[in-house]
Amino acid sequence: FRDRTAFFKLVVIMAGASGGGLVAYADARSDLDLASSHGPTKKKVVILGTGWAGTSFLRNLDSSLYDVQVISPRNYFAFTPLLPSVTCGSVEARSIVEPIRNIMRKKKGEIKFWEAECFKIDPANKKVHCRYTTAPNSGWTDEFLVNYDYLVIAIGAKANTFNIPGVEENCHFLKEVDDAQKIRRSVMDCFERASLPNLDEDERKKNLHFVIVGGGPTGVEFAAELHDFVSEDLSKLYPSVYGLVKIEVIEAGEHILTMFDKRISRFAEEKFQRDGIDLKTGFRVVKVSEKDITMTSKSTGEFSEPYGMAVWSTGIGTRPVIVDFMKQIGQGNRRVLATDEWLRVCGCDGIYAVGDCASISQRKVVEDIAEIFRIADKDNSGTLTVKEIQDVLEDFCMRYPQLELYLKSKRMSSILELLKDSKGDAMKEAIEVDIEEFRKALTDVDSQVKTLPATAQVAAQQGNYLARCFNKMKDTEEHPEGPLRFRGSGRHQFRPFRYKHLGQFAPLGGEQAAAQLPGDWISIGHSSQWLWYSVYASKQVSWRTRLLVISDWTRRFIFGRDSSCM
Ligand code: FAD
Repeated sequence: FRDRTAFFKLVVIMAGASGGGLVAYADARSDLDLASSHGPTKKKVVILGTGWAGTSFLRNLDSSLYDVQVISPRNYFAFTPLLPSVTCGSVEARSIVEPIRNIMRKKKGEIKFWEAECFKIDPANKKVHCRYTTAPNSGWTDEFLVNYDYLVIAIGAKANTFNIPGVEENCHFLKEVDDAQKIRRSVMDCFERASLPNLDEDERKKNLHFVIVGGGPTGVEFAAELHDFVSEDLSKLYPSVYGLVKIEVIEAGEHILTMFDKRISRFAEEKFQRDGIDLKTGFRVVKVSEKDITMTSKSTGEFSEPYGMAVWSTGIGTRPVIVDFMKQIGQGNRRVLATDEWLRVCGCDGIYAVGDCASISQRKVVEDIAEIFRIADKDNSGTLTVKEIQDVLEDFCMRYPQLELYLKSKRMSSILELLKDSKGDAMKEAIEVDIEEFRKALTDVDSQVKTLPATAQVAAQQGNYLARCFNKMKDTEEHPEGPLRFRGSGRHQFRPFRYKHLGQFAPLGGEQAAAQLPGDWISIGHSSQWLWYSVYASKQVSWRTRLLVISDWTRRFIFGRDSSCM
């Protein structure tokens, strides 16, 4: 064949003739129902994304019950907590990824995977519009449609630049494996450039000025990794320029690691000071050019500094496809998709959202409170009896288990006291509470609803929860003997999603880590680093990656990190 296109055309014609029909060659957009070969009874489940939430859903789903299709621009799962280790070669990129087809292979039934990105969700017609990520400019139709009965959106989030000029063009992000590899190359490039013979000292210093914007867990972990890489490995390889290295962390808030206990935040700040990492808290970056980074603070006003490499790690933003979808379904003013506690996207039929792209809606909480009151105040009197209050509280806590403790401790305490006092007292059974007062107290709880953190832990637990619901869906439809309040009128058959916090780590470099475990148990130091090693080894999705990661750690202990720049 003279060119590849001609060859591909022939393959497509042959595939079409043999009934495959997967890829269509046409100029117009092809509407392909990539539907099942399993027969008509199986419902089509389409999963968008192969990250923590999507993969956890896929791994726990009984795939023999559904016609499952997975769509993602990357054909692997990546263990993101180890991405900072990839930036400095402590762990190799290949060691933290698992091909999604390996995971699919171990599942029952036939699962299909399309390496493509979804660029539009059409809830009215129950279709997703997808685009092949390969074959650019080849003359092929690179868009197709997939029908679904149930759609699970698990496409995560993108890095948030807050529209600060120059960030997109000049900074590195640390979200994907590819990003980590680029950072690794860039660090080595900076050292090689700084070592060239014809540079003056200022130019060498500029090249070796590493700026990390954002003092959250990712920024802090990367700064610590980079410091270790420089002091343990690169100091031996680049002795003439080693002394010129400057690592700087810029944080807009007053402290770093604010999502951790204050003791951890303080320890990290002191450790960074001892390590010579320049910590600038209370500074806000306002512009990044090719050569300079401009920031401002109350005390200094605006100023610029030259830099060699900048990593932007200031949190997450919404992917364009989600922004578009939210506009379609009347959630245009939100940052992430609103779901109810069963992870169903509010206002949509058969669409679920899990992981970083979704959160439980606070507006939904307010609507729910109104509904609970409507149910409880049967005689429409505007007052509730003690029994009715008990029902309201029970229903509320069932729907919002995470608020139960709050409810007990805060403004509700006086009402709960009232309930307690009335126990066994026939007279007090008749006490009525002003419904407006009570409603106000409950609605106040709503403002305390903390959206769950955007972490792998939440995403994985949501994926797992949703898969278990899907596994029981048919059964519960046939035998709907669940709690009364979840039956009929659109209520879901299952208990709501309940997040179980298992603790969090912050590796701080020098073989030290901070761990904040359930019950606010804090541990900082070398022992926590060993706990970190064992937890992260055990959390790997396969024995293959587990062995690769452990062997990378062993290699680093013996030979140090690899500084080659490939
Ligand atoms: P992701 O894991 O980001 O997966 C999204 C998936 O969707 C990907 O497969 C992507 O390719 C795919 N996708 C994207 N766009 C589309 C599209 N248009 N169509 C179809 N598919 C699409 N959390 C912790 O709990 N502990 C940690 O130690 C920790 N460390 C972290 C370190 C780093 C460097 C980073 C970046 C994150 C870390 N996190 C950690 C957070 C954690 O990685 C995220 O919260 C988690 O990945 C969210 O999972 P997700 O499935 O929602 O999204």
